[in-house]
Amino acid sequence: MPEQEIPESRTYRHVKCGNDTVVSGQPFELVSNPMSSMEQTQCSSCGAMFPMSDFEWLDTGENIRDYYTRYTKDATDVQHFLCSKKFMVGIILIAAVLTASGVYLLVANDSIFTRVICLFGGFMIGAMIGMAVFVIGFANPIKRKVCGVADTRLLT
Ligand SMILES: [Zn+2]
Repeated sequence: MPEQEIPESRTYRHVKCGNDTVVSGQPFELVSNPMSSMEQTQCSSCGAMFPMSDFEWLDTGENIRDYYTRYTKDATDVQHFLCSKKFMVGIILIAAVLTASGVYLLVANDSIFTRVICLFGGFMIGAMIGMAVFVIGFANPIKRKVCGVADTRLLT
């Protein structure tokens, strides 16, 4: 089966002002992902953020809130939680604190300067590990299972 080509961008319309905004790159990945728990997005004409329900996809005319509901209607509460920002922040914090503590133990007898640098470095590295665990271990596989595609930019 040939791989479907992932679209570069998609356009949504802010219903209240009637103007269109093109999303591409990471914002497109986020807005297209029904499991991303996005609550607001930008209208480029108004220059402000509005609730997802104020926007519709230009190509299908479907309200973005309805689009999210349509793709996530079979997702369980646990799946929603495991993809949520709360869970993401939790994993990042736990990984950051654990890594920083581990690193700190290694340099506990060194100078205060070394300890502070290592604590900070450990925290940052741990946070990155936590983010990777969240994306690779939870958000991506759950999104794939719930939405049926590896990349939600393919959804219409
Ligand atoms: Zn607008």
